[in-house]
Amino acid sequence: MSEEFDFDVAIVGAGPAGISAALTLAKAGIETVVLERGQYSGAKNVSGAALYGPILNELVPNYWEDENSFERYLTTKKITLLSESKSVTIDADLRNFNQVPYNGVTVIRPKFDRWLADKAEEAGAMILPDTMVEDLVWNDKQIVGVKSGEEVLKAKLVIIAEGANNILVEKAKLAKKPKPRHFALGMKETYKLPKKKIEERFHLDDNEGMSNEILGYSKGIPGGGFYYTNKDTVSFGLILNMDVLTKKKLKAPEVFEEFKEHSYIKKLLKDAKMIEYSAHIIPEGGFKHMPKLYGNGVLVVGDAASMVLNAGLYIEGINFALESGKVAGEAAIEILQTNNYTKKQTKLYKKKLKESFAYKDLKTFKRASHFLENKMMFTYVPDLLTGLFEKLLRNNGYPRKRIVTSAIGYVFKKGKLFGLIKLLIGAVRSL
Ligand SMILES: Cc1cc2nc3c(=O)[nH]c(=O)nc-3n(C[C@H](O)[C@H](O)[C@H](O)COP(=O)(O)OP(=O)(O)OC[C@H]3O[C@@H](n4cnc5c(N)ncnc54)[C@H](O)[C@@H]3O)c2cc1C
Repeated sequence: MSEEFDFDVAIVGAGPAGISAALTLAKAGIETVVLERGQYSGAKNVSGAALYGPILNELVPNYWEDENSFERYLTTKKITLLSESKSVTIDADLRNFNQVPYNGVTVIRPKFDRWLADKAEEAGAMILPDTMVEDLVWNDKQIVGVKSGEEVLKAKLVIIAEGANNILVEKAKLAKKPKPRHFALGMKETYKLPKKKIEERFHLDDNEGMSNEILGYSKGIPGGGFYYTNKDTVSFGLILNMDVLTKKKLKAPEVFEEFKEHSYIKKLLKDAKMIEYSAHIIPEGGFKHMPKLYGNGVLVVGDAASMVLNAGLYIEGINFALESGKVAGEAAIEILQTNNYTKKQTKLYKKKLKESFAYKDLKTFKRASHFLENKMMFTYVPDLLTGLFEKLLRNNGYPRKRIVTSAIGYVFKKGKLFGLIKLLIGAVRSL
């Protein structure tokens, strides 16, 4: 091939996946450009989130020394089940998570993405904001660049990091049009709450943080709520399966408003002032619905590759985006040395990715997304468990039965035993 190239690598999208790839490449002196449709990295991203694992420290060693990198380190995790008028919470207070590099931190996405993009620029990557990539440039069967309006930018390799709207992945012929059931709609709000109040309300010391995943009271729609503490704001939202939402003819904002009326949520948001609202789609197909990860002249990373883990206890996408971006960057460095950008070489990315936690976790939990589509998880189970706790804890003056006898009696009385057994088998197989 005797093409003239403007850059070694062109990356579409300056989210965590694209920036992670850019940072990795720029550190190795590779000529890299990132094209971002937003005004700046993170401008199109919905605000707060929880970021787990050591990947950030691998990309930016000692990141915690820079106070702009994160909000709070997570020492408390709560899982809450909601029924009509009750809630039950498991509250894990894990103070040993206060050691650097931290098990998890909260971040404000527009701030975090911009901070990470600055690191990539400092390392030598070029970031072009306000640049919407509309198409790919082909030379016969080989992708050799990207197109934005009339502008054509040629690159030896293109990394697609466009997030969940994987239009370019389809144009690259790496995936068919995905089905709505493989997507969820995430609605997120940011609330202002004084630092002192956050710490008092959740028994946190300075800079410690709490995350709360909330199941139930979502009109039976698979999904769940989340609540994360930042420095002096909280991020709160609800994720709903798009297919069930459409089939039930329900409007997501209405379900969200009703969710906020639950007494448990009201307490979480007490005295807090909403300052931002946004919504975004989330790929939920997981491992089974990942597109082809490489092609002639192209690699796919992050949400564009459906690399989001939703397994109830974990709702993670940023760390998977960072990891896949880093692995794609490392693979690209080796591919460029061969001067051959065909599938024969780009498959190295998948080979490397298979060794990463990101690919392995998605594979381990490949049945989880299907399991979590089970309506019983969002109606029957929260009802059963909150009701069971009420029954066991109520003291109405009568002599009590043994706890186990009461519990078994209650479960039998609630019925749907066959469904419950099926659900438990599903949980054992998927989680
Ligand atoms: C409500 C909600 C809550 C979430 N909470 C969490 C959480 O707490 N923890 C967690 O780990 N994950 C969370 N996620 C998932 C997480 O946000 C994603 O997995 C992560 O952002 C994926 O990163 P990415 O770089 O692949 O894609 P994105 O972050 O979506 O970035 C893609 C970038 O590409 C740009 N772009 C797209 N198309 C083009 C184009 N054609 N030309 C130029 N630029 C383009 C976009 O503007 C964007 O900046 C949440 C998601 C939502 C919606």
